[in-house]
Amino acid sequence: MREGRFFEKRGEALVCRLCPRHCVLKEGETGFCGVRANRGGTGVSLNYGSLSAVHIDPMEKKPLYHFKPGKEILSLGSYGCNLTCLHCQNHYIAQDRKNFTFADGNGIITPAMILEKLDRTLAGVAYTYNEPVVWFEYVKECAELVSGKGYANVMVTNGYIEAEPLEELFPHIHAFSVDLKGYSGEFYRLVSQAKLTPVKETLERIVRSGRHLEVEYLVIPGMNDEREPFEEIMGWYAQTLGPRVPLHINRYFPQNRMERPATPVETLLRLHEIARTYLDYVYIGNADVAEGRDTLCPSCGEVLIERAGYRSLVRLGDPVCPRCGATCDILF
Ligand code: SF4
Repeated sequence: MREGRFFEKRGEALVCRLCPRHCVLKEGETGFCGVRANRGGTGVSLNYGSLSAVHIDPMEKKPLYHFKPGKEILSLGSYGCNLTCLHCQNHYIAQDRKNFTFADGNGIITPAMILEKLDRTLAGVAYTYNEPVVWFEYVKECAELVSGKGYANVMVTNGYIEAEPLEELFPHIHAFSVDLKGYSGEFYRLVSQAKLTPVKETLERIVRSGRHLEVEYLVIPGMNDEREPFEEIMGWYAQTLGPRVPLHINRYFPQNRMERPATPVETLLRLHEIARTYLDYVYIGNADVAEGRDTLCPSCGEVLIERAGYRSLVRLGDPVCPRCGATCDILF
């Protein structure tokens, strides 16, 4: 446990302004995320230094296809989330509070201990598995330390964060993988008990910051797969974020409290075809199909990166197409 940031006093209570929920916490209460609390009148981060997972993953698993392709990254998870998605695949560390294990004293895994786990075969550190926003203090501290030693930081997030803390992360987080969970406020309300607008604002802020961004869109049958609203949000995406921000259209499988059947492959192919008319890089994930697997030059169609599962065969050394010379938006 550590003192947390972005708590404001309101009478006898504290308001947490880290994420758009703005939980009002009386003495002894814990916020919606289950990991930020009012303890004795002080706002605290209960999960500081409490890791639920430390793995080495391929960058492609984040999924980031245009950021250090073919590299591996040390991936950290903690506990808690500020959304409650019915289909959360990591609900046991994100939502199920009975599983939350908070370290204190010697049990805390410090950022310095994370740095010791890194070597030059790894790109750096990814904050992932549960929601890194609700782990803000640790993520920022660790990211500062790691980037100071020349490593990269990656944040895999739902994008539900206020502007001020997000701005504080920009100097140290080099790439963001953000979930755009649906195309409507109704979807966010029903499925995640959240709002769409703050997520769109986060996406816009990341683009303005110049940091690398890729977007994930998990397709749930009958929930976020209708042509017209999908076209509408693709229009917004292309115009506001730009056509060169990669989009990952992912297949859903029944998880947690969502029992709908898995997304039909035809639905993924249909949305991929629509998105391709707006964007230069559209991928299909969690499905064994050839479409949306490799990275193609947006200008001449040359295969730049060939993929099999999470493995990448990178066919270029610079972000320039070897056939036509077009710029290809890949950060090595
Ligand atoms: S970070 Fe947690 S405590 Fe703070 S507003 Fe969001 S859900 Fe509430």
